Amino acid sequence: MAPPRTYRTEALTLRRSTLGEADLLLTLYSKDRGKIRAVAKGARRSTSKLVGHLEPLTRVQLSLSMGRSLDIITQAQVLSNFAPLKENLAGITKGLYVAELVDGFGSEAQSNPAVYDLALGTLDAIAKDPESELPLRFFELRLLNASGLMPELYECVECRRPVAPGSHRFSPNVGGILCLDCGPSEAQIRPISLRALKVLRLFHRASTSKTPSISVAPALAQELKTLLASTISFWLEKEIRSNSLMEHLQRDTKSAV
Ligand SMILES: [Zn+2]
Repeated sequence: MAPPRTYRTEALTLRRSTLGEADLLLTLYSKDRGKIRAVAKGARRSTSKLVGHLEPLTRVQLSLSMGRSLDIITQAQVLSNFAPLKENLAGITKGLYVAELVDGFGSEAQSNPAVYDLALGTLDAIAKDPESELPLRFFELRLLNASGLMPELYECVECRRPVAPGSHRFSPNVGGILCLDCGPSEAQIRPISLRALKVLRLFHRASTSKTPSISVAPALAQELKTLLASTISFWLEKEIRSNSLMEHLQRDTKSAV
């Protein structure tokens, strides 16, 4: 009999649920394999060596063995648990939002180290300042970018003319900036201030996964939040539909074999 196939990877725990009497079902985002769904057998028993190593929002080094449908976690060691983030509700809420988006945009068996680094950098930023919203805005824009869904910020998405200051609008569902002459009938159109556009461009050009240290007035912060939330929810609804369709098809293929 062939030995079971095993592998090691570093990952971030996104969420977990109970399975059977003592097992945990985990969704993780790994550095080199993308999203992984795995079982930790017996992990809810107080005697398990996995206890305390698989809390949500924890960076872990894992050993896994490949199962038929779900992989099995055989070893887990905490590398960072972002403890300061978990000390208050604002930090926990923001951390879980990061996990939810990585889960929503992440693909199984498709590595995207930029997303992994971005998620860790964002959790670090939240841990340092749990009240600041800016790391989430940076995370949203860079997640879109790393997922190949970056909104156009420099020219009109329709006519491709460069954007003139003050004469532009934003559409989450046609892919970014529109000039005043273009407005496809299906486009949801929102105003975007020059300041908001400049912050988004700054986020886009940033060379690391760390939030640039800028201060943003409350009205601008609210504008950025609304613009990015509309873009994220547009893509997430599409992603969720296509992912669940894909999972459905995979299940059908498996059951047909
Ligand atoms: Zn145009």
